[in-house]
Amino acid sequence: MSRILVVEDESAIAELISINLRHAGFEVTLAGSATQAQYEVDRVLPDLVVLDWMLPGQSGVALARQWRSTARTKELPVIMLTARAEEGDKIAGLDAGADDYITKPFSTNELLARIRAVLRRKAPEALDSAVEVGPLLLDPSTRRVTRDGAEVKLGPTEFRLLHFLMTHPERVHSRSQLLDRVWGDHVFIEERTIDVHVKRLREALDRVQCARMIETVRGAGYRLTQHSSAVSA
Ligand code: CA
Repeated sequence: MSRILVVEDESAIAELISINLRHAGFEVTLAGSATQAQYEVDRVLPDLVVLDWMLPGQSGVALARQWRSTARTKELPVIMLTARAEEGDKIAGLDAGADDYITKPFSTNELLARIRAVLRRKAPEALDSAVEVGPLLLDPSTRRVTRDGAEVKLGPTEFRLLHFLMTHPERVHSRSQLLDRVWGDHVFIEERTIDVHVKRLREALDRVQCARMIETVRGAGYRLTQHSSAVSA
């Protein structure tokens, strides 16, 4: 389930957004200030942040800028909320690194559409669309992985791990990146836990001759590849 952090100090708006997002199937965490938002992000990296511009203390724009300059949060998808529709504000928000921008009052349908669009672009593993890499097909809505119709049985963690790797193929992911993006937690889980789940994933994929699609990149992490040499017939 995708995790969305809503940073908004006006509780009525925060509640309205969170009710609608939960209804749409997202897991929602609320923060009422930049300090609280940073605390939540340090704890568990969300898939996307809905960030209000006007917050008590540090502003949403300053927080977005801070996230963009930090390695762990550089790619964090952010949608800025603002009460002001001035062009200059919009530019400042996008300059600070927001992926999109929405002006209050807005309809929840519009917010949902923008959230899905940003996720599709930046975190497709947070959505329910089926994904295909090489001969492997993964469908989050049915929680099934198949190769030529043959089903691969996976535990929930291996499924999430494969989903993330399939939506970001051919790229090397460090263990700490995987902890953040797949587990949402880089503090309380040991990195070798990943090796255990990768091993299980490879064992499951081996039954459909796809184990070699998961490559270990020495000193760097793991990568999913669709190069034909990695896939036996
Ligand atoms: Ca506010």
